[in-house]
Amino acid sequence: DELAALVDGLLRTVPDFPEPGVQFRDIMPLLADADAFARVVAAFADHAHGPVDLVAGMEARGFLLASPVATALGAGVVPVRKAGKLPGPVVSQSYALEYGSAAVEVQPFTIPDGARVLVIDDVLATGGTAAATVELLESCGATVVGLSFLVELQALGGRALLPGRHVDTLLTLP
Ligand code: 5GP
Repeated sequence: DELAALVDGLLRTVPDFPEPGVQFRDIMPLLADADAFARVVAAFADHAHGPVDLVAGMEARGFLLASPVATALGAGVVPVRKAGKLPGPVVSQSYALEYGSAAVEVQPFTIPDGARVLVIDDVLATGGTAAATVELLESCGATVVGLSFLVELQALGGRALLPGRHVDTLLTLP
């Protein structure tokens, strides 16, 4: 559709970043385009499944998208941060990487029991970050009502790690 084409036209594909063999999708030109950014934020807000109390965004590009979407929905923001960045108390969820592991953290006192949370990030790749984020938020007593991404890299199969979830993506790349 039209929005997908707009997003596609503003993505930059960078070979061998951050490592050899990786094709990195750079979303910065889209964020810098006032009209495109506004339309993306409006689309994320439109796709919300029912009322939302909090929008969770993953470090670091997810922060840039989650914040305006939260304002549009009348919701608060929860930053989902890499381990060691937030002052405690924090709750952690670790997840496997190709080599080793990583962890995401939130401050549980910012998440009321039963809060309806929309999760937003720029790119759904292997799904490891998103699946860990869902587990983390629900371990704090939240209900994840859906996940929205700008771009889904279908070949990496991330959706399979989010069974039964509402997963919306503005652009799907093979
Ligand atoms: P996953 O855990 O799904 O493999 O990776 C998703 C996380 O890595 C997201 O937080 C996303 O920001 C980042 N990521 C992975 N690949 C890309 C990419 O090609 N472009 C961008 N912008 N982010 C990526």
